[in-house]
Amino acid sequence: MNPTEQCDALVIGAGPAGSAAAAVMAEQGLRVVALERERFPRYHIGESLIPFTYPALKRLGLIERMRQSPFIRKYSVQFVPPSGKASQPFYFSTRYDADISQTWQVLRSEFDQMLMENARSRGAAVLEEMEVSALLQEEGRTVGARARNRRGELADFRAPITVDCSGRDALAATQRNWRVRDPQLNKVAVWTYYRGARRDEGIDAGATTVAFVPEKGWFWYIPQHNNVVSVGVVAEGKYLTRGGVKDPASIFQREIGENLWIQDHLACGRQFGPHYLTSEFSYRSRYSAADGLVLAGDAFGFLDPVFSSGLMLALKSGVLAGDAVVSARAAGDVSAARFADYSAQMREAIENMRKLVYAFYDPNFSFRMIVDQRPELAGDITDCLSGDVNRDFSKLFMAIAEYAAVPESLPYGQPLAASRQAIPAA
Ligand SMILES: Cc1cc2nc3c(=O)[nH]c(=O)nc-3n(C[C@H](O)[C@H](O)[C@H](O)COP(=O)(O)OP(=O)(O)OC[C@H]3O[C@@H](n4cnc5c(N)ncnc54)[C@H](O)[C@@H]3O)c2cc1C
Repeated sequence: MNPTEQCDALVIGAGPAGSAAAAVMAEQGLRVVALERERFPRYHIGESLIPFTYPALKRLGLIERMRQSPFIRKYSVQFVPPSGKASQPFYFSTRYDADISQTWQVLRSEFDQMLMENARSRGAAVLEEMEVSALLQEEGRTVGARARNRRGELADFRAPITVDCSGRDALAATQRNWRVRDPQLNKVAVWTYYRGARRDEGIDAGATTVAFVPEKGWFWYIPQHNNVVSVGVVAEGKYLTRGGVKDPASIFQREIGENLWIQDHLACGRQFGPHYLTSEFSYRSRYSAADGLVLAGDAFGFLDPVFSSGLMLALKSGVLAGDAVVSARAAGDVSAARFADYSAQMREAIENMRKLVYAFYDPNFSFRMIVDQRPELAGDITDCLSGDVNRDFSKLFMAIAEYAAVPESLPYGQPLAASRQAIPAA
């Protein structure tokens, strides 16, 4: 391995955000190197897309690939109370045209591999089994990263701009102590997989089901191809571990009994593989960018997954960050300030979704209340939940505030303002 490599833009992590950023930058002529710790295909959680993932997939040239893929088509979402009687599904086609109104349930090993190969096909060099251990700093700015391959050999990759897409490892935010926990969103998730579990019929076969358990906990039920269903339960840690139960399989088995729809749908299926457990506290990085560095996807911020917004946000931020890097390079300046618009768009997107997540967990609130009282706001709720998040939802949030505490926007997540000087792009 060459101990020092030079490129125009370095990407850390080749998950959805990293592969999207790498593809966008490479297609516009930058020499891009992306360093990925794992060898793909690799397992990852986060399997349900929402309608407004479409624009990013289109920009990446992947719509036809998605249409030809075995991924299950998702047309709707439904909610199920503990008693087990499902609500009328919400069909996206009641509001959007055909392109937006159908989305997908993906197997991440296959989806992420497709995104990575797409970045390669546009000219990015994606190096797998290459773990970044540190950012390289010179005179207060990031000038690349140090990585180790599977034989333990070290190499420095130098670039005027580094895009951190390292997911929930959040390399830059962790190393710089920028990761700030959301003051309230702090849940635990336990999940596993079933083969042969029950599916609803016809157009409903690919629906995401959100099935409630007590204390505002909820199950996801996500049908995938190969007759597999992904099922997980999310709730407060103290609820899931009540009575001293700590083992993920025991927690999961007990919660199945808390929702009759879940119990019924899993009864004919066979569980396989491990039971996974993660503490999924929401966080955001104090800064979105510094001189020579920009953060995207979960490396910038992670939001509770109740509305399946993570992949939409990761792909959107990868595309936007990639474009911002291209214009920063064209302007000959990769200072933090160049990423102000990017940060504003991502903060707006995340904040809008975050306000609805808070409302969801508020014990005094349900979306039905708003729709009943203020039917003219139903479209806003749908748009935000479908991922059309860069819009003004102030009327909706004012209405929600009559029933539930709507959080203030978090003040952080903007570029580190230290530098007012242009930083040469090459
Ligand atoms: C329980 C749970 C359920 C979820 N459900 C959904 C859902 O239904 N729908 C949805 O849209 N989202 C969901 N999400 C969120 C979704 O998983 C993430 O938002 C999404 O994966 C973010 O993509 P990313 O590219 O930012 O990060 P990742 O997908 O995590 O990719 C980061 C990549 O960086 C690599 N990497 C990390 N550190 C290094 C390093 N030091 N050097 C080199 N490479 C590195 C990793 O190997 C990885 O491949 C869920 C999340 C959780 C926790």
